[in-house]
Amino acid sequence: MTKAHYDAVVIGSGAGGGVVAARLGEAGLKVLLLEEGPWVRSHEFTQRDRDMYPKLFRDGGLQATEDASILVLQGRCVGGSTVVNQADVTPISDPVLEHWKTVWHVDDLDADSLAPAVEAVRTEIGVNRVAPTDLNANNQLLLAGAAALGWSAGRFEHNRVGCIGSGYCQIGCAYDAKRSTLVTWVPRALRAGVELRDRTRVERILTRGRRATGILCSTLDDNGQILRSETIDADHVFVCAGAIHTPLILRRSRLGGRLVGRDLSLQPQAPIIAAFPRRLQSFRGIPQSAYVDEFETASAADGLGGFRVEGIYGPPGTASAFLPDLGPGLMQFMRRYDQLAAALVLVPDRPSGAVHPYGDALFARIQYELSDAWRSAMRQGLAAAAELYLEAGAESVILPVNGAAPVTSKRHLAAIRNDLALPAGGVRLVSAHPQGTARMSENPQKGVVSSRFKLHGAENVYVADASVFPTTASSHTQLPVMSMAWLAVDRFLADTRA
Ligand SMILES: Cc1cc2nc3c(=O)[nH]c(=O)nc-3n(C[C@H](O)[C@H](O)[C@H](O)COP(=O)(O)OP(=O)(O)OC[C@H]3O[C@@H](n4cnc5c(N)ncnc54)[C@H](O)[C@@H]3O)c2cc1C
Ligand code: SF4
Repeated sequence: MTKAHYDAVVIGSGAGGGVVAARLGEAGLKVLLLEEGPWVRSHEFTQRDRDMYPKLFRDGGLQATEDASILVLQGRCVGGSTVVNQADVTPISDPVLEHWKTVWHVDDLDADSLAPAVEAVRTEIGVNRVAPTDLNANNQLLLAGAAALGWSAGRFEHNRVGCIGSGYCQIGCAYDAKRSTLVTWVPRALRAGVELRDRTRVERILTRGRRATGILCSTLDDNGQILRSETIDADHVFVCAGAIHTPLILRRSRLGGRLVGRDLSLQPQAPIIAAFPRRLQSFRGIPQSAYVDEFETASAADGLGGFRVEGIYGPPGTASAFLPDLGPGLMQFMRRYDQLAAALVLVPDRPSGAVHPYGDALFARIQYELSDAWRSAMRQGLAAAAELYLEAGAESVILPVNGAAPVTSKRHLAAIRNDLALPAGGVRLVSAHPQGTARMSENPQKGVVSSRFKLHGAENVYVADASVFPTTASSHTQLPVMSMAWLAVDRFLADTRA
């Protein structure tokens, strides 16, 4: 039997891989798109946490840092994290691009070169502003609190079209209203003739000298056990497995050098919960549609900084995982499930973590320590979020910190701002935006890929996902990833067809 041969293999079908596969296919290349997770169709989204977490999330939603202090959520299915994301759209701001150029030697990237890619992606995923009438009570309270305090706030742009406000975005949109990669780039890739294989994990990239010759992959059964392994030949390999697994694939392939896996940003977010004396039904409607950005900063010297507060809610399983008690205490909270409001305090961090393999095992060892600067910003953020909710009429605000007393008066805010202890493991933290780990920089001493998205030290291996960001790209990363992936294909085609 003749061995399969492709012009390009794309590893991972999420925000980056979906764009790359569709565009390479449309350019006439013979493309194979490989996805470790299953292909779960929209009609299979049951709107039940217990069904969907095991099917859609990496490690069933339990992937975490080595010390178990931060949950690191990622999709593991056709469409990747876009299938489980909250559909907010925020771009990479100009000062962040400037920061990458001046500090990290990303020489060939600026707002002008990225603009056509951003426009093309926005059109495909249907970006529009959340309508005022689509704000649920939870998000309205956040905006009301911000207005009363005179703080800058707004309604998100998002990639929902025809949303009926069911509230299940994080466990898959059964209505195809969320224009995730599953319903945009993947169908576009298939129409262009791209071959998609789900439940197929790439173990490593095969090389001869500086050239990749193909990949070794395994077909998996429903339980993730290997059914068979095979090698596939390819002229070019695009690695788009996300910021945690891209570095593991590169490390297993002995590609990319000593910086692979380093410089991880997690943007850890902390949930804050407020109890109101009336029914809110925060679980209905768009879960995350309003933000407060009064305290967010962006500069060429430091990149993204400060903090944001954003509305959030989830189905019972998701919500209860972030409540501060267990057993009878948790039951007491859940009885008030329809009277609770919730927000996330999102603090952009500096790249300080690392991803390593556990010996020969395939899962990730994620090392990360909270810095003093991050702790200080998080204290300000929690105090600001508590103030917002109290201003909006909350009876009490629950901090995501073990042992912290409920906040019932503004008199408590100074103590939160100045003294609140945030011990590792003692704060409920979640990361939905892992980034870095294959940093872009023209300088191989500083980064892993060039701004042509090509791996330093290899002739035909490219990275186009959240791992290329030198520092945290934006408060939400799908548009940044997709637009960079679009640009990666433009540059690949220009370089290989010159
Ligand atoms: C709960 C949640 C909420 C979010 N909310 C938002 C939001 O509102 N707005 C926003 O902009 N962003 C949001 N994000 C983040 C955004 O979705 C991601 O930043 C983006 O999808 C990352 O793109 P990526 O291509 O790097 O990785 P992913 O989209 O995660 O795709 C990587 C894919 O590679 C596959 N893969 C990994 N290893 C292998 C292997 N060895 N072989 C084959 N396949 C492999 C994975 O299974 C996965 O499907 C959210 C993310 C999560 C988890
Ligand atoms: S709220 Fe809208 S986008 Fe989210 S799952 Fe429901 S219909 Fe889909």
